[in-house]
Amino acid sequence: MEDRQALLRGLPKVDEVLQDERLFLFFESTPRPLIVETVREAVEDLRAAVLRGETERIPSRDELVERITGALTEKNRRVLRRVLNATGVVLHTNLGRARLSAEASRAVGEIADSYCTLEYDIRAGARGSRQDIVEGIVCRVTGAEAAMAVNNNAAATMLVLAALARGQEVVVSRGELVEIGGSFRIPDVMSESGAVLREVGTTNKTRLADYRSVWASGVTGAFMKVHTSNYRIVGFTEDVPLASMAELGRELSVPVIYDMGNGLLADLSRYGLEEPTVTDALKAGADVVLFSGDKLLGGPQAGIIVGRKTYIDRMKSHPLARAFRVDKMTLAALEATFTQYIDRDRALKDIPVLRMICAKPEELRARAERFGEMLTAACPGLRVEVEACEDQVGGGSAPTSRLPGFGVSVRQEGLSAQKLERRLRKAPVPLIVRVGHDRVLVDVRTLAEEELALAVEAFVCAKGGEN
Ligand SMILES: *Cc1c(COP(=O)(O)O)cnc(C)c1O
Repeated sequence: MEDRQALLRGLPKVDEVLQDERLFLFFESTPRPLIVETVREAVEDLRAAVLRGETERIPSRDELVERITGALTEKNRRVLRRVLNATGVVLHTNLGRARLSAEASRAVGEIADSYCTLEYDIRAGARGSRQDIVEGIVCRVTGAEAAMAVNNNAAATMLVLAALARGQEVVVSRGELVEIGGSFRIPDVMSESGAVLREVGTTNKTRLADYRSVWASGVTGAFMKVHTSNYRIVGFTEDVPLASMAELGRELSVPVIYDMGNGLLADLSRYGLEEPTVTDALKAGADVVLFSGDKLLGGPQAGIIVGRKTYIDRMKSHPLARAFRVDKMTLAALEATFTQYIDRDRALKDIPVLRMICAKPEELRARAERFGEMLTAACPGLRVEVEACEDQVGGGSAPTSRLPGFGVSVRQEGLSAQKLERRLRKAPVPLIVRVGHDRVLVDVRTLAEEELALAVEAFVCAKGGEN
């Protein structure tokens, strides 16, 4: 009892600890209340331990300050943090899908903390429209007559259905009633938009005659084709090409909408990616084409709508357009990204998503070898081997495409691959890897050259880490 009283009297005072110069470092980056709270918690934890009889001595000031700085570092970590993607999945849905180009992120940075011409026509010195910001460049790059941008492709789908077909039937093949994940299901979006889904055909076969047979004047609002982004129906199948649907649409004066999802703008079939491009879709005669900004386009999260001006104008003036509108940072990134597509060859190099998809196996092997050497030099105890592997586009795009890639497999004596993976996630810049066959695999397709050192760093931290 006596001892306990003595221990309690020896507890450091919060105000005293706050004077410790090792904490001064934190005052620049951390809100003062957070520091005071952390010091108070550390002292209170000590008091509680003494009262429970769990401690025989008060830790030294050094020990206490170390605890506090550790806790502060933990609290200072943002919830939304940078990570290194070593999974080889280019559009990793959980890791933020597309990585912006350097050009696009510079544009965002410049616009974010200044005033800008969001709704201001600088030449006229008068009010402008945010819809005009990207329309010109999107039309130039895709060949469309008109364009607009909304928050994501889900919003684009909702807007197009509400604006063009509310209260009318929209005809969709049963083979294309997709669920994209995150509760985006075509039948549900359709009913929310006020349009009525009219299914035609079967899961594996739909013919043009099926569309024609359900058409009725004044009842049919649109024909819609949905790209089966994240699955393929194989075997005994038949579907209607967009061009034939477009022809039928023209004959019957029904708009043809194509929800293409991925938004590919450059032909990548040379690189093993067999997906239609936006320009192909417009050339095939679709009246309205919708796609995501952060899938194969390689830009920010957005939904891009391109097509005939009369339809786009109806969407621009629809009340939902305001609810779905994008902010200045998204517009900055979109404008910069689309501008990069004016020179397609450079786009393949400068837009990270395209660069990663088009990376040649030799290049990836060389990067894997370099990483293996760097890792062995920094952590001699690890078993490190370069390994051929298969990568994916991801993000619900090109589900059957496998890209031949390279990675580095790593094993640590006395530590399971699962434990190693967990430790790599605890690094200051977490490294997200693949695990299996009792090894972790660092896939280098999705790691930039300048990130290799940080990835090595994660292994260095993991070596000293605990579980
Ligand atoms: C991905 C996708 C969507 C949803 O796009 P988000 O930008 O994620 O909202 C809708 N339709 C198709 C066909 C898709 O591939």
